[in-house]
Amino acid sequence: MTAPPLASGPQGPAALRPLLDIVLDALREGAEARGGPLPAGGPEAVAARVRDALGEPLPAEGDPEALRRLVRALAAGTADPADPLCAAHLHTPPLAVAAAADLAVSVLNPSLDSWDQAPAASALEALVTRALAEAAGAADALVTTGGTESNHLAVLLAREAHPGVRLVHGANAHHSLPRAAWLLGLPDPVAVPTPAGVLDPAALDDALTQLQGPLMVAATAGTTDAGLIDPLPEIADLCAAHGARLHIDAAYGGGLLFSDRHRARLDGLARAHTITLDLHKLGWQPVAAGLLAVRDTHDLAVLGHRADYLNADDDTEAGLPDLLGRSLRTTRRPDILKIAVTLTTLGRGGLGRLVDQVCALAQEFATAVEAHPGFELHDRPTLSTVLFRPAGAPDDTVAAVRRRLLHDGRAVIGRAVLDGRLWLKVTLLNPYARPADLTALLKLVDLAALPEGHTPG
Ligand SMILES: *Cc1c(COP(=O)(O)O)cnc(C)c1O
Repeated sequence: MTAPPLASGPQGPAALRPLLDIVLDALREGAEARGGPLPAGGPEAVAARVRDALGEPLPAEGDPEALRRLVRALAAGTADPADPLCAAHLHTPPLAVAAAADLAVSVLNPSLDSWDQAPAASALEALVTRALAEAAGAADALVTTGGTESNHLAVLLAREAHPGVRLVHGANAHHSLPRAAWLLGLPDPVAVPTPAGVLDPAALDDALTQLQGPLMVAATAGTTDAGLIDPLPEIADLCAAHGARLHIDAAYGGGLLFSDRHRARLDGLARAHTITLDLHKLGWQPVAAGLLAVRDTHDLAVLGHRADYLNADDDTEAGLPDLLGRSLRTTRRPDILKIAVTLTTLGRGGLGRLVDQVCALAQEFATAVEAHPGFELHDRPTLSTVLFRPAGAPDDTVAAVRRRLLHDGRAVIGRAVLDGRLWLKVTLLNPYARPADLTALLKLVDLAALPEGHTPG
């Protein structure tokens, strides 16, 4: 192979253009080879095809065809969230404009650990994080890799403000919250049972009354399993009455901030000390696009950190922005560019309409489930998650239906245990899925629920 060209610099664009053509062609070829929402055949078949495409992982001499071959293999073997029948998780189909912006980040490779590696990117991040924080009723926000890192930072900030703080969360909370408490050496968290799917204020009041020492409550706006929103104003009142700190995990529900129709369901959000947002869910961003918003910017002071090669005192005094305190990471990719491009290209209106569309689709899907005698609906959806199950089926049948559809490459649907039973979960994040796609999905599940070997007549 001749000398491999660089992505940026004077020759960068000319070197990239033919490579991008290869990538785009390979994406199309791979999708055609797949022919559905995910590859058929299950893990072994997929791994065998990847092994073939890869060949020797570190050959003595390279092969210029590798780009086409591997991108094609990845596309052929992907679970594509842009396919309406790929609807298991909070796994979003990214917007084309966001992916295009992300390419510029890969090319320029700014790193947000010091101003001299990211002059414009750091300025952009400062402006856009503040605007997003304000949209959530907070003062500032840090960019993270997602909800998990945001929750981790929130628990860290609580610990620094209140040494020995104990986390109190609903049983419906994301698993990353108790994990953060463990990681940060905090007392064992207390999980308040949530039999109705959301935190019950009376049960939370009891827990806060009984517990000693500094407390931090984590509420959820958009539970991962069911898309439910805890009663935020009541929880904020209780936290104020008990002197507890409040964190709201709005990784999923935070997207409602863009929607005029649905924003009011986040009332109370602004009363939290910290808020987790995650734009690789209801924000249609490529991974990663997380944020942690804070109400009081003084809370962030504890993250201040000095490394002479990155933020020497005299450099900071001379006016070079000090970026190290904006993250626990050092080298850090400007995920803010794709976010900024999306916000300014679509505007609040454009994003709000996408949010409204997925919420409306979920209502339509729930109505179709209710109207079908073969299915039981868990509840009307709050966000864009619908839980349902084949009527009268035991849990192992429900689990088998999901795996059968995965194995055959026909649909990607999720699972969730609620009320002690296993449910099928459809998380609708594709704003362009049509009612006919939802009907097709229901039909696939119906067929997959038939006993093995049964062919419908
Ligand atoms: C998805 C999710 C998270 C975790 O976010 P990642 O981006 O996967 O780290 C945290 N909390 C809730 C409520 C979520 O739905």
